[in-house]
Amino acid sequence: MKGQGGQNRDDVVVIGAGIVGVCCALQLAERGLSVTVIDRKPPCEETSFGNAGVISPWSCVPQSVPGLWRKLPKWLLDPQGPVFIRKRHAPVFLPWALKFLAAGRPDRVDVVGDAMMALSRNSPANYRALLQDTPALELVQDSVYVFVYRQAAQANLDQLGWRMRKMRDVPLSLIGGAELREREPDISPAYEAAILIHEQGRALNPAAIGKAIADKAKALGVRFNLSETRTISRHGDGWTAICGDRQYNARKMVLAAGVWSASLLKPLGFNLPLEAERGYHLLCREPGININNSIMDVEHMCVASQMAAGVRIAGTAEFAGIQAAPDHRRAFVFRKALQSLFPGINTDQAEPWMGRRPTFPDSLPCIGPVAGQDGLFAAFGHSHYGLGQAPTTGRIIADCVTGRKSDINLQPYRTGRFT
Ligand SMILES: Cc1cc2nc3c(=O)[nH]c(=O)nc-3n(C[C@H](O)[C@H](O)[C@H](O)COP(=O)(O)OP(=O)(O)OC[C@H]3O[C@@H](n4cnc5c(N)ncnc54)[C@H](O)[C@@H]3O)c2cc1C
Repeated sequence: MKGQGGQNRDDVVVIGAGIVGVCCALQLAERGLSVTVIDRKPPCEETSFGNAGVISPWSCVPQSVPGLWRKLPKWLLDPQGPVFIRKRHAPVFLPWALKFLAAGRPDRVDVVGDAMMALSRNSPANYRALLQDTPALELVQDSVYVFVYRQAAQANLDQLGWRMRKMRDVPLSLIGGAELREREPDISPAYEAAILIHEQGRALNPAAIGKAIADKAKALGVRFNLSETRTISRHGDGWTAICGDRQYNARKMVLAAGVWSASLLKPLGFNLPLEAERGYHLLCREPGININNSIMDVEHMCVASQMAAGVRIAGTAEFAGIQAAPDHRRAFVFRKALQSLFPGINTDQAEPWMGRRPTFPDSLPCIGPVAGQDGLFAAFGHSHYGLGQAPTTGRIIADCVTGRKSDINLQPYRTGRFT
């Protein structure tokens, strides 16, 4: 379709080659559209590089839930705790935090839970479909999500998050320490119980999965350009991305630039509450132990998983803005958590990493047409769930761009919902 109407321009330009951008690009190309992807880095070298690898078809519990505020003081007072706010960032963070707490009202959480689930459903199968005929297919493994507890009494299925999952028929079970060690022989005997979420997927190398999707898109003709987009603007009946001395024109544009998307939209009059929720991981090469599933350490709020390169443990919410340098001490905090989970682990070769979750206060992304900007589509803000939700996001975007009605209600993901 390139060159229609006498103009040499693409049907679609996608800004951002993270997991969301590559899933959009492939599914747009599969619909026969000509697509260019612009990213200053190769595919999946930012947030999508180092996540915990959980591909959950059952994500339906938002980050903000009723009563969460009671836990905040304890977390914030502990410099090694799961939530950290750099002082200099506090004036920007506080208005966002008020919106975050408001999003956890009892009358909101179920609406958000349903909207999360709609994006997450069937995610392992969706990846397998996208990765069909690529060597990366084997990087998506069947898995169980194992929430481990030191005391049996803590594993309480009556807590809100578990009730929300049960209401949505998420397959759960509660097991004792003996069964936990049958499933995970290397786990410490200090853990007395676990709650399992079944029928999950896990990624053995999230970045390699994204790169394989990008390669498949390239084989369908999608071009990947290494450029930094400075501004986006409407140009005649299409859209232009201005990148240094080059510009890319297309009939339609998809903004999938993760946490950087909000600043590209700002000149068009949008002031979106998108925070960089910075997370860390520690990768232990030669760990000397094996993990069969994704393990959520409920005490330290981090997830340990066996990756192709070693054991990766990931978590933390650090609010310090997009630009601040990483504080890798926050990644090395995980060493203690790993040693208490797996007493036999070797953590000598441990490599830290930091990535920026693009997080809105209501745990939902923006997906779909940007109001008042004909031909511009949002695909960003997937916070903790972007790996799992990227394939369905790509399908929705392909529907929107080709004028097909999505089978998912897009109201909860409106860009205008914060005004
Ligand atoms: C520690 C941690 C653990 C996580 N664990 C999980 C998990 O287990 N399961 C799960 O589902 N999710 C998880 N997530 C969340 C998930 O990783 C993110 O939601 C997802 O990676 C977001 O993808 P994205 O494509 O929107 O953003 P990104 O991967 O950040 O991609 C955005 C891209 O846009 C490009 N870009 C930005 N601005 C410009 C510009 N101006 N010009 C050109 N290019 C630009 C960037 O270079 C980047 O490549 C985790 C995140 C973290 C940090």
